[in-house]
Amino acid sequence: MINIYQKTLCKEVNFEGVGLHSGKISKVRLLPAEEDKGIIFKRTDLKEKNIIKACYKNVSSTNLCTTIRNQNNTEVQTVEHLIAAFYLTGIDNVIVEIDNVEVPIMDGSSKEFISIINKVGLKKQNSQRKFLKINEKINYTSGEKSISISPNDKCLEINYELNYDNKVIGKQRNEVILDSDNLEHIYNSRTFCLYEDVEKIKKQGLAKGGSLDNAIVVDKDKVINSEGLRNEKEFVNHKILDLIGDLFLSGYRILGKVVCVQGGHQLNNNFVKKILSENNQINKKDYTKIKEFNKKYIIQNRKLAINA
Ligand SMILES: [Zn+2]
Repeated sequence: MINIYQKTLCKEVNFEGVGLHSGKISKVRLLPAEEDKGIIFKRTDLKEKNIIKACYKNVSSTNLCTTIRNQNNTEVQTVEHLIAAFYLTGIDNVIVEIDNVEVPIMDGSSKEFISIINKVGLKKQNSQRKFLKINEKINYTSGEKSISISPNDKCLEINYELNYDNKVIGKQRNEVILDSDNLEHIYNSRTFCLYEDVEKIKKQGLAKGGSLDNAIVVDKDKVINSEGLRNEKEFVNHKILDLIGDLFLSGYRILGKVVCVQGGHQLNNNFVKKILSENNQINKKDYTKIKEFNKKYIIQNRKLAINA
């Protein structure tokens, strides 16, 4: 069932940890925010020009994580797992105060963020959520990577396929319905890399904070982490988690069926841009492929769901 009202945290909550790529420790404070504010990052280590709105238009890099930047070049890296946690717990409005450049990676998934948020709980606000309904299929392809969204008025559905030459990862596919499935296996799934890529990534100045405590490392035919995998499809499940975070940067709760093959942060961001640019263009022609849900429609849908 879709909740139609916006939510924020009941009270503030703090956590800290190392950034996966920067290797820097940051302290984070999540604060309740007024309705219609959205997700706002505030770099508290900087005195001014330190506000960055979590928005697809502010994505400045998608190299191994999603980075957002304001017009004064102030950045926050690796926002996607925290934003996915906001989506999954139901947070629409929040201020994220952070005293460094990167969101802590924690255990490599959204599990700890979700547990921290659930401990303080959420409160309902008066404004309604912004939903985006897809009326006609929209595709985006880049080489062997592709993503599409088709109409589904009731929920967000994600069908994801991942293909790796590596034997352990191989071909994995999973399908989830975000508003009704138990998503523990999605938000518990950790980021991953191949052992053979570790040096290459470090040469790019990335993964300075990476360790077996916050990433799955696969070496040829085995997972190096002594505890193994958390679930059978942990690799594709983590890609679904990334996609949830990247889609929520649209500023909407999108309703539709997403099919993604070999995706990644760059594809996700380009896709959100395409969805929203088509919206603008087509609105001018008074013909909508996608539109914001109105209140009446949502309530009708909820009734149908209850009667079914
Ligand atoms: Zn990720």
